[in-house]
Amino acid sequence: MRVIYSSGNGNEMRVALTFDDGPHPQHTARILDILKKESVKATFFVVGENVQYYPDMFDRIIAEGHEVGNHTNHHTFLTGLGRDEVSKAIDGCDDAIYHHDEYSARLLRPPGGNYDTNVLQFCALRDYTVVLWSIDTRDWAGTSAFEIEKNVLENINDGDIILMHDYVSRKAHTEEALEHIIPKLKALGYRFVTVSELIEGR
Ligand code: ZN
Repeated sequence: MRVIYSSGNGNEMRVALTFDDGPHPQHTARILDILKKESVKATFFVVGENVQYYPDMFDRIIAEGHEVGNHTNHHTFLTGLGRDEVSKAIDGCDDAIYHHDEYSARLLRPPGGNYDTNVLQFCALRDYTVVLWSIDTRDWAGTSAFEIEKNVLENINDGDIILMHDYVSRKAHTEEALEHIIPKLKALGYRFVTVSELIEGR
C-alpha cells in the first residue's frame, strides 16, 4: 500500500486525468465522448451507489478501456470511522464494481482526500493504493472553464494527477475545460496515462 500524490520519472512527461463521483448518465457520457475523440485514457473513481444506478454508463467506462478506482459506496468520509464502517464503505463500492464486469479496483481515492490510520491499515490489508491528486481543478465549486484551464496549464508538471468530477450537484464546467486542456497539454508534450500506468512508470 502506498499513498500517491504524483510521481514524475524525469523522462517522458506524463499526466493522469481523474474523474470522481460518477458515473452519471449525462456528464460521464460527455466526458467519455471527449476522451474517445482525443484517444485519451483516464481513471474514474466511482461511487458504488452510482454504479448501481447507472450500470450502462459504468459498462461504457470499462468497455472504452479506462481505469476504475474505488470512491466508497455512498461517498462516505472515512476519517474517524471504526474499522467495520471503513470496510463497509469500501467493500460496498468494491462489490458494485465487481458485480458489473467482474472488475477489481486496486486504487482507492478517499472522498475529500481524507484518510486516517484505520483507512491506511485497511488499504494495506487489501493491497489498495490510496490515490490523491496534485492539481485540484475545483470544478466542483462551479469554477469557470477558463479558470480551470489556466490553473492546469500554469501548474502542470510531469507526473501530475489532475482532479476533476463527472458528477457535480451544481453547474460545472468540467467538460468545456477538458475540451481545451487535452489538446493544449498534448501540444506541450504530455502523454495521458491511467493512474496505474503513472504509478508503474509505464
Ligand atoms: Zn468525491
